[in-house]
Amino acid sequence: MDDRSNTPTTAPFIPFALPDIGEEEIAAVVGCMRSGWVTTGPISKKFEQAFGAYLVNGGETIAVNSATAGLHLALEALGIGPGDEVIVPSLTFTATAEVVRYLGAQPIFVDIDPTTLNISPLAIEAAIGPRTRAVIPVHYAGLACDMDAILELAKRHHLKVIEDAAHAFPTRYRERLVGTLASDVVVFSFYANKTMTTGEGGMVVTRDPVVAQRIRLMRIHGISSDAFDRYVSKKPAWYYEVVAAGFKYNLTDIAASIGIEQLRKIDRFLARREQLAARYDTALSCLPFILPPHPQSGSNHAWHLYVVRLTEKANRGRDEMIGRLSERGIGTSVHFIPLHRQPYWRDRYGLRNEQFPAAEQAYQSMLSLPLYTRMTDSDQERVIDEIHAALS
Ligand SMILES: *Cc1c(COP(=O)(O)O)cnc(C)c1O
Repeated sequence: MDDRSNTPTTAPFIPFALPDIGEEEIAAVVGCMRSGWVTTGPISKKFEQAFGAYLVNGGETIAVNSATAGLHLALEALGIGPGDEVIVPSLTFTATAEVVRYLGAQPIFVDIDPTTLNISPLAIEAAIGPRTRAVIPVHYAGLACDMDAILELAKRHHLKVIEDAAHAFPTRYRERLVGTLASDVVVFSFYANKTMTTGEGGMVVTRDPVVAQRIRLMRIHGISSDAFDRYVSKKPAWYYEVVAAGFKYNLTDIAASIGIEQLRKIDRFLARREQLAARYDTALSCLPFILPPHPQSGSNHAWHLYVVRLTEKANRGRDEMIGRLSERGIGTSVHFIPLHRQPYWRDRYGLRNEQFPAAEQAYQSMLSLPLYTRMTDSDQERVIDEIHAALS
């Protein structure tokens, strides 16, 4: 009767995410290593140019060794410092808020919109005070925030906008790619489980040439030109000038080699993610789930994550669901444990769960299902079957 009992217990574990590295990436890395130039150099530059070309009107592109580094550089270049307040959503990864602390500024945590799970513009507006300098919207799961509302209120209150676009490549918002909107800086992540990867890495995008110059400088020790420029410049190779106490946030050419090949495949990756998401939508619609929100027309979802929420009709709690799926060889995860629940943020800022009703409701019911481009149709069918079984 139940053909799921025929599923061999030795079936390979299906993780919730997996990078899609092909022979092209491997050959590119080998080529870079054989070239003798492995750190920041011509390949990183080429990667920056290719990324900029993909965005078309994105402005300057600056490759960094993580999105966290990129967010730090962005806030530093925008002049965020002690006494300043920066508004962030509670439902995000800790990196979004920790960079504010790096500069001695204070993150102000706000709730999300219960439908989109993105930062709520109303909550941003309510949190603005005399010390508020910036807001960091996070395009949760790959769906763009309500950027028209956020950019409008930022303009009205003279706030800087730094988009945490770690999930949002490529995401379109009202016909325009994230990375080309009217914010100050946009930061993408190429961490291993993101929609494209360089192992570790990130890209900063800004249309402000002064901000771009400061970020380039601080990316590499506050040295006025990077190692590659020194290598090719007419000045003596040994000469350089330190003009600020900078950081060490440059992307290696080894990583950039991977990035160039991943970028070539990004439209195919997106098409496969869209296909997998659509198949989940159909197969899970009869279950006690709130399925992921869909974008308005003219926009698209990058489908970094496929997040479902259990409704009250479900006969299992979220934790039990994750446990049962894991026993059946299906990996899932939770994005995210809200920052208001994390000891450091909770205790330092006296945060209480009741202040974040939408993030709380989402957190307690959410799980991220397996979604990665190498997932086959039959892998996904197994996930769907096991979800049905786990709920029965
Ligand atoms: C992954 C992630 C980051 C950090 O990206 P790294 O490249 O690992 O530094 C920041 N914000 C969000 C929302 C993320 O998911």
